Amino acid sequence: MLDRAHARRRRLGVIRKTAAVVAGKATGALSRVTGRGGGTTLPGDVARAIDPRILTRLTKDLTYGSIVVTGTNGKTTTARLLSWLLEGAGHRVVANRAGANLIFGVTAAALNRAGSDGKLKADWGVFEIDEASLPKAVEEIQPRATLVLNLFRDQLDRYGELESIARKIEKALASQPETARAILDADDPRVAEIGLNLTIKPLWYGLEDTSVATKTLPHAADARTCPKCGTSLIFDAVYVGHDGVYHCPNGHFERPRPEIAATNIKLDGFDALALTIEGTRIEMPLGGLYNCYNVLAAYAAARSIDLAPSYIADRLRTFKAAFGRQERVEFRGRHLILVLSKNPAGFNETVRTAVGLAGGENFVIGLNDRKADGTDVSWIWDVDFEMLQGHAKVVIPAGGRAHDLAVRLKYAGVGAENPQTDPGKTLDLLIKSTSEGDTAYLLCTYTAMLDLRAELVRRGWASPYWET
Ligand SMILES: [Zn+2]
Repeated sequence: MLDRAHARRRRLGVIRKTAAVVAGKATGALSRVTGRGGGTTLPGDVARAIDPRILTRLTKDLTYGSIVVTGTNGKTTTARLLSWLLEGAGHRVVANRAGANLIFGVTAAALNRAGSDGKLKADWGVFEIDEASLPKAVEEIQPRATLVLNLFRDQLDRYGELESIARKIEKALASQPETARAILDADDPRVAEIGLNLTIKPLWYGLEDTSVATKTLPHAADARTCPKCGTSLIFDAVYVGHDGVYHCPNGHFERPRPEIAATNIKLDGFDALALTIEGTRIEMPLGGLYNCYNVLAAYAAARSIDLAPSYIADRLRTFKAAFGRQERVEFRGRHLILVLSKNPAGFNETVRTAVGLAGGENFVIGLNDRKADGTDVSWIWDVDFEMLQGHAKVVIPAGGRAHDLAVRLKYAGVGAENPQTDPGKTLDLLIKSTSEGDTAYLLCTYTAMLDLRAELVRRGWASPYWET
């Protein structure tokens, strides 16, 4: 009797899963037809309403399992690097590529790759997950490995949440199956604190090249204190934001020694980087010190599933960055470089790379205050726009909060053009202020980037993102 009841429950589960997949896929097709932005999350909502366990059921179909990527900055690039490595090794990968990093977006991505029999047809899942959604994602996906990249302060409205997010991540990692790996950035003190509290031993990664480091934190608010005695940590090297080499002066806490370390780092603007990991030289077409962390994180994850260092190096040579993360668009003879910059740590790195490493002179800085950007924009006062001073020739404040940006730039001693709230007028002014052959850097928050990109699409210079 029990067996029959069990078999019946299983049959019902399969029927429910198939119904959820069919309904979700139909929703996705419908929203693409009606032109509602690639249909990235709605199918997930619909399928989950029919079968709340749909994501668990689908990810169980994966041949090898899932890897989950979380953290404030670098999720999209790191997940994409990892997918690139797996695909090059002949694996079928399902990934949530369009920045849909809540649980509904992940469900929609899995649905998209499911067949009409309700089965997910892929070998690996590579999912980027918003930090706050990590506990749910780990519970439903049961990943083989979770990567935690960093925990920076995001936009102001989220400041108070950093500690609660850290606790959520810790809880999620502690609930992973014993065989699962936690792959953590040793250089981030808050991530290190999480890892040192775990019972499983994390795989630590970090940078080991003080020639690319500074000695001071970019701004006081990024300072971290010892989790035991509360004394300010001493930084011997600072790489990005509060990522660096640190210790408590009273000897309670120090940066864990990274097993996977990058040495001999060479940077060439937004164009290229080179570094050595485990004796293997990696050279690739991505720029900025922050991307060294993303490459290192993806490398660590790839090594944890036994991809060979020589293969990783070969494959990374031909990598292409994700939409808007570091995208190049030719626009009326100008070379536009679009770089998403969404919080103080992110902006400081993109400005530093554009000015210091790439010798950039022309800039559009885009700031919106929609939900995805953060509705309180006072965090722009934590960005060191002073770095533009004396280097930038053209700076166009853009986006819905262009006027706030113009005030900030004025205090930074940067001569800026008239602020432009309209994307079309922003591009027109850029054309007027620059010459053919010039390079311009578009550093924008999330929806400000979407707006400018939509305008480029409308004018026929870029393709809609869900087609690429
Ligand atoms: Zn201490």
